[in-house]
Amino acid sequence: MLITTRFAPSPTGCLHIGSIRTALYAWLFARSNKGKFILRIEDTDVKRSTQSSISEIIDGLKWLGLNWDEGPYFQSDKIGYYKDIINFMIKSGLAYKCYCTSRRLDILRKKQLLTGKKPKYDRKCRDLLKSSGDLEYVVRFRNPISGTVSFFDEIRGEILFNNEELDDVIIQRTNGIPTYNFCAVIDDNDMNITHVIRGEDHINNTPRQINLFRSLGFNVPIYAHVSMILDINGKKLSKRKEVVSILEYKSRGYLPESLLNYLLRLGWAYGNQEIFSINDMIKLFTLKGINRSPSRFDVGKLLWLNRFYIKNVSKCSIVEHLKYQFDKNNINYSNGPDLIELIQLVGTRYNTLQDMVNCSRYFYDNHIILNADAAKKYLVKSSIVILEYIYNKILHLDKWSLEELLTMIHVSVVELNMNFSVISMPIRVAITGNTISPSIHIVIYGVGKLRVLSRINAALIYINKN
Ligand SMILES: [Zn+2]
Repeated sequence: MLITTRFAPSPTGCLHIGSIRTALYAWLFARSNKGKFILRIEDTDVKRSTQSSISEIIDGLKWLGLNWDEGPYFQSDKIGYYKDIINFMIKSGLAYKCYCTSRRLDILRKKQLLTGKKPKYDRKCRDLLKSSGDLEYVVRFRNPISGTVSFFDEIRGEILFNNEELDDVIIQRTNGIPTYNFCAVIDDNDMNITHVIRGEDHINNTPRQINLFRSLGFNVPIYAHVSMILDINGKKLSKRKEVVSILEYKSRGYLPESLLNYLLRLGWAYGNQEIFSINDMIKLFTLKGINRSPSRFDVGKLLWLNRFYIKNVSKCSIVEHLKYQFDKNNINYSNGPDLIELIQLVGTRYNTLQDMVNCSRYFYDNHIILNADAAKKYLVKSSIVILEYIYNKILHLDKWSLEELLTMIHVSVVELNMNFSVISMPIRVAITGNTISPSIHIVIYGVGKLRVLSRINAALIYINKN
């Protein structure tokens, strides 16, 4: 049997980290079993589906490297096909037209609630003898009235429902569009999905879908329902985009490696191991390892992992992600050290690539932003002698290397007869605009001779003006 899983999001909002974790588990399960992973877009809800959400799904999966073997398939392309099956079901008695008005259903619901009953459709139209002509209708599935429906969930074990509790689920709306529960069953069957791995919010749909599978003579797939992600305090994750959107994490300078590693561990464990390469994940992943209880999202831990990966992934890979960050910040990265060299100059001790870019922009920007406190403290009259001295040294330097520049700084300590920090701070502020940077000879080297000279000049003008 070819193990086949799918990721089947509805394109109605941002790509949520919870969805992505489910996608990761489905992808890993397929990969670790040499199976197939299918991408299916469930966009039959025309009103709520958007093109930007579809792009976000595709871009997000690509960015994370969760490649699919088939798809993306769009359910909206197959409406006619679904309706043919629904018509067949009506003819063969597996489904029926329900003409109840929403007003009638509302009243029914209120009555049931008042008498302490669980609201449920009363099957009024289930055995109508003739059709009601032109009246508006939905199509309902003829769910078994008695007996039970049970399934073995790979994460939660045996789950059982009484058919009595289940409604005759609507499979086609009044506007003629088939519903989620119906299309999911048809597609899972057509695509030979062997394992449905999805969020626990679908548990209540599962018995309805199983009954649909059986009525059509289809094989029922194996189910695994993944628990929710809560915030650090155990509350529901806020829907704010900056908290839950995968692409927002990309934009903030997280690496795909750290997000995948974090989302894997958030709800799945293999002993005490924290760091998992993609190959480790594929080798070690099992559905049984998924935790049944909800997980708590901890940004601190994600940052820790991101810092780890920024230090440890290949420089070439960092460069690719850095290009995106520079572009996003409108910094022209060809206007300074090349990015491999930049990594050597500034190191990799950053929580995010956004931090790294913020700390490097003075290498590329034509004009620096002068920090007011730094300027007030270090660009003062007593710094003139230092800045003029260094200006002349640099002007007459014939070789531009880190070694040369380091020697020049050492010589200046002796010749000016000042402490190293007394000399380096005004230069640092003049060149970077700030008090924090890598070693001063590294900064001078990376910014380049012409730009260093012009920035020192500008600092001298600033001192004389203030
Ligand atoms: Zn009805």
